[in-house]
Amino acid sequence: MEFSLIDRIRERTAQGRDDVRLGIGDDAAVVAPPAGQELAIAIDTLVEGVHFPHGTAPADIGWKSLAVNLSDLAAMGASPAWALLALTLPPQSREQLQAFIDGFAEGFAQLAQPHRLALIGGDTTHGALAVSVAVHGFVPPDQALTRAGARVGDVVLVTGTLGDAAAGLQLLQHGARVGEGDGRAAYLIERLNRPTPRLAAGLALRERATACIDVSDGLLADLGHICEASGLGAEIDAPLLPRSSMLLGAFDDVTARDFALAGGDDYELCFTVPPSLVAEVQADLARMGCGATRIGRMVEGYGVRVRDERGQWLEATHRGWDHFA
Ligand code: ADP
Ligand code: MG
Repeated sequence: MEFSLIDRIRERTAQGRDDVRLGIGDDAAVVAPPAGQELAIAIDTLVEGVHFPHGTAPADIGWKSLAVNLSDLAAMGASPAWALLALTLPPQSREQLQAFIDGFAEGFAQLAQPHRLALIGGDTTHGALAVSVAVHGFVPPDQALTRAGARVGDVVLVTGTLGDAAAGLQLLQHGARVGEGDGRAAYLIERLNRPTPRLAAGLALRERATACIDVSDGLLADLGHICEASGLGAEIDAPLLPRSSMLLGAFDDVTARDFALAGGDDYELCFTVPPSLVAEVQADLARMGCGATRIGRMVEGYGVRVRDERGQWLEATHRGWDHFA
């Protein structure tokens, strides 16, 4: 791509790191991985109209495209270091292109900077708007958190609150605007557009969580992945699901529950810990601001079952969606 546009990205995302020997500008980046650490590597693509609504602000796209990847590193207990960015941009005027790049880079940098993440390269091409970010992070040998490893009797917990992003999407689809109304809609839409990757929580879970995943496709789907990888089932108590006052204020209880069970895009961590560690893990994550709520337990068997407030099993009609379903 034109160097002036790449320069705009580079200037706006500049991050000094000693381990970046060669960043944006050559044919490939050159980095020096720290001795004695393992690399955790992830990539995620966001396509307009599929992973974010048409009309999403460029800065929000920049933030989210990095956030969803940092969330994957958080779920592995890795600390982020470097990123690559592949942009596919629709044909547009030079002014529009610059405005998009500037906004995108600003949102990206707002999340990258506090984590000292360096953008070290990428690719730029034309087509329908799509953004791929690849991230690299460090994790001590054998300490990466995985989806496998949950044991019978382990407690299932989740950080933050669930269902906000799905609620935000629903509000957007019904014409809500950020900054309108009593602030509930703005909060929920912000949770959709600017998810907070739980990186500090992920680090705190190293050597404590037996399994961990980030909730991108909905709790039922993602906890289902822990079940599958661990060869177990899980039982969830719906009344325990952590839901924000904004969610509960904007939607009725059943809708809010369904968003929390099956809504995507929250980017909270769902993880399992032995009962003996629950209290200290909860205390640590409370100090980090996100908190962690126990929502159920791992059992022998297969799949996720959900109990309602009367102790009755819910019909499994709401399954978190899969992107290629
Ligand atoms: P090449 O044709 O050799 O791949 P490019 O013109 O695609 O070179 O890229 C030139 C430099 O700019 C490379 O260092 C590349 O990593 C970087 N770059 C290109 N697009 C982006 C982008 N969207 N974000 C960050 N760096 C980029
Ligand atoms: Mg080249």
